[in-house]
Amino acid sequence: MYDVIIIGAGPAGLTAGLYAGRSLLKTLLLEKMVPGGRILMSETIENYPGFPKSVSTHELMARMSEQARDAGVEIRTEEALDFDPVKKTVTTSEGAYAARSVIVSCGSYPRRLNVPGEDAFTGRGVSYCATCDAPFFKGKHVVIVGGGNSVAEEALYLARFARQVTVVHRRDELRASPLLQERLKSEAKVRFALRRVITAIQGNRMVESVVVKDPAHEQAETIACDGIFIYIGYEPDTLLVKNKLQLDEAGFIITDHDMQTSVEGVFACGDCRKKPLYQVVTACSDGAIAADAAYKYISRK
Ligand code: NAP
Repeated sequence: MYDVIIIGAGPAGLTAGLYAGRSLLKTLLLEKMVPGGRILMSETIENYPGFPKSVSTHELMARMSEQARDAGVEIRTEEALDFDPVKKTVTTSEGAYAARSVIVSCGSYPRRLNVPGEDAFTGRGVSYCATCDAPFFKGKHVVIVGGGNSVAEEALYLARFARQVTVVHRRDELRASPLLQERLKSEAKVRFALRRVITAIQGNRMVESVVVKDPAHEQAETIACDGIFIYIGYEPDTLLVKNKLQLDEAGFIITDHDMQTSVEGVFACGDCRKKPLYQVVTACSDGAIAADAAYKYISRK
């Protein structure tokens, strides 16, 4: 029997672990992949306080993991397959675990375009991770889709490798921060195809082109390219808690300001939770609050 089981070892889960461990709670942290979470799909982070230039995401997450382990947290690589919020049990392929409280920090995954060719060419020119795949596109032309901060950051990263980076966005304006937009516009290798939606990804063995359309007109055009990077937002990874915890219409977990979900003693933090700002720093903040709330919940029982 654990005091706390944390599901998901991104910045939110690792910080929850750190705070739970330092409160001397017997804490199990379950992670299906490697500790670090989705932020590892970016190379560096520039707005994490205390690192004036930037910090490597791998270094930051390795430090967070080490700090959680040093605080006494048991980190296991196991996928949570079933979760009973009322009994507070989590089943994995390795066994079943019970706790007095549970913190859900299962993050989010990249949204798909859902166009013909996307599935067939995933791993053959279609990518959701510039950090992982940019070196394959040295001297090539890549398209990147979306208009948020992710597109701006990752287009700049891709420009270090590619010959040309074309940003395809469905509106006239990007929603990326003004600072990032300024940097993007002054990068000579970056071109823009605005007010365009991708309708198909084409090729033979590998991606060779994308078909785009102005949403106001029927006429399609083809952009020849060697790869396409998709950054159109994220979906909460909350299948495990569907019909068990209250979710909003998009699937994000509803919590109060103490990270309490609709089931007493079950807390949620990070990108899987409905909130106004999705950042590493707010994920860490959520994690600290969730662990503190779990500690207070256990102390009351
Ligand atoms: P985002 O801010 O949700 O932006 C998604 C973009 O994709 C939007 O421009 C949206 O267009 C477009 N889009 C959505 N669905 C689409 C579709 N089906 N087809 C074509 N385009 C589509 O996502 P994000 O940039 O990945 O950022 C996610 C969160 O992480 C945000 O809160 C962001 O601020 C944060 N983040 C922060 C940083 C940083 O601070 N350095 C870096 C990366 C991410 P519209 O604009 O028309 O809606």
